[in-house]
Amino acid sequence: MALIVQKYGGSSVADAESIKRVAKRIVDTRRAGHEVVVAVSAMGDTTDELLDLAGQVAPIPAPRELDMLLSSGERISMALLAMAIHSMGFEARSFTGSQAGMITDATHGAARIVDVTPVRLREALDEGAIVIVAGFQGFNRDTRDITTLGRGGSDTTAVALAAALKADVCEIYSDVDGIFTADPRVVPLARKLARVGSEEMLELAANGAKVLYIRAVEYARRHGVLIHARSTFSSGEGTWVLDASKTSPLVPEGDTMEEPIVAGVATDLSQAKITVIGVPDVPGKAADIFKIVAKSGANVDMIVQNVSAAATSRTDISFTLPKTDAATALRALAAEQSEVGFESLVHDDQIGKLSVVGAGMRTHSGVSATLFEALSMAGVNIEMISTSEIRISVVVRGVDLAEAARLVHTAYGLDGDDEVTVHAGTGR
Ligand code: ASP
Ligand code: MG
Repeated sequence: MALIVQKYGGSSVADAESIKRVAKRIVDTRRAGHEVVVAVSAMGDTTDELLDLAGQVAPIPAPRELDMLLSSGERISMALLAMAIHSMGFEARSFTGSQAGMITDATHGAARIVDVTPVRLREALDEGAIVIVAGFQGFNRDTRDITTLGRGGSDTTAVALAAALKADVCEIYSDVDGIFTADPRVVPLARKLARVGSEEMLELAANGAKVLYIRAVEYARRHGVLIHARSTFSSGEGTWVLDASKTSPLVPEGDTMEEPIVAGVATDLSQAKITVIGVPDVPGKAADIFKIVAKSGANVDMIVQNVSAAATSRTDISFTLPKTDAATALRALAAEQSEVGFESLVHDDQIGKLSVVGAGMRTHSGVSATLFEALSMAGVNIEMISTSEIRISVVVRGVDLAEAARLVHTAYGLDGDDEVTVHAGTGR
């Protein structure tokens, strides 16, 4: 008997039929003798619809009330799911985030889990019930208010429950079959990975892969939670997120446990680039610029500084950040222009980022040469480069991104034999 946490995304519980299908899957797991805890997302596009409604009654909805509103989406699906399980003759009990002991900080809309006290869940499990928990939400002890964890937060709920209950596995169900070597909508010859290391998964998620949310992957890595990403619509194996050095009785022996040089190619069209032109090349200017940007709340990703022109002793500094943060960052910089002494600002939201990720990069040379060669053969110009120990990222024109990803995928020998059938999946 194992303790299994299952998370079902919004697309898996989009309507009554889907809820019944999920209920059957949960009951099958229970029938196999396992204890089951389920974290569930709001039905289909409920969260977006609620956000839209809020926007119609208030230009800037109060964060506390927005969390009250959004958390209701998951309460609907959890109760319906419990009812569906009852009608199959099994005992199920649903719990809100606060009933489940999801204690967070007080940050509305982006709360972080600080503690999980699943006392009531453990009791319900001991009484033989299937436990259903509303994903994406928690409770702050100081303000005594309901919080939400940020978009896609149900993954984090599931992983945090798995950690607190010492579950054997956290199964994350969505409408895609697992983690692929690239987004199959961009690279049709992408292959499903049987297994991926947690550090690689973290880099893939941070650089555009959408199947698992980065915070959930971080949490799982920190707490040693085994993740199995799989599809609600098939019974096949998905992808196990487990480091090469580790084993689990649940994970089938892979044909190769060697760390892949390249595990996957991630693509990201969600970033913009800001270039600060004519920055005086003296100590302290980069600090000034990035203090202003940080204060505006923007999350800077890549940074490049050019060599300064000898004649002017001025340089250009470019950086990337989420498109959604760009306007605020530009405004903040413009307000301090004379203080910092730069000449102008350029905003470019037509960029694409391509990242190659693999734990084997640590011990292999020539990985970047393959990337640059593939891009040069495609005539794709590289605008920025950044690397970590197990990742190389480049910024290119957004229109070139898909073609570049396909060529790079081929260059690293990642192509599968057949095109992946994409069931219009969203990965949620
Ligand atoms: N319902 C929330 C969202 O759409 C949380 C989730 O789906 O994980 O972001
Ligand atoms: Mg959702």
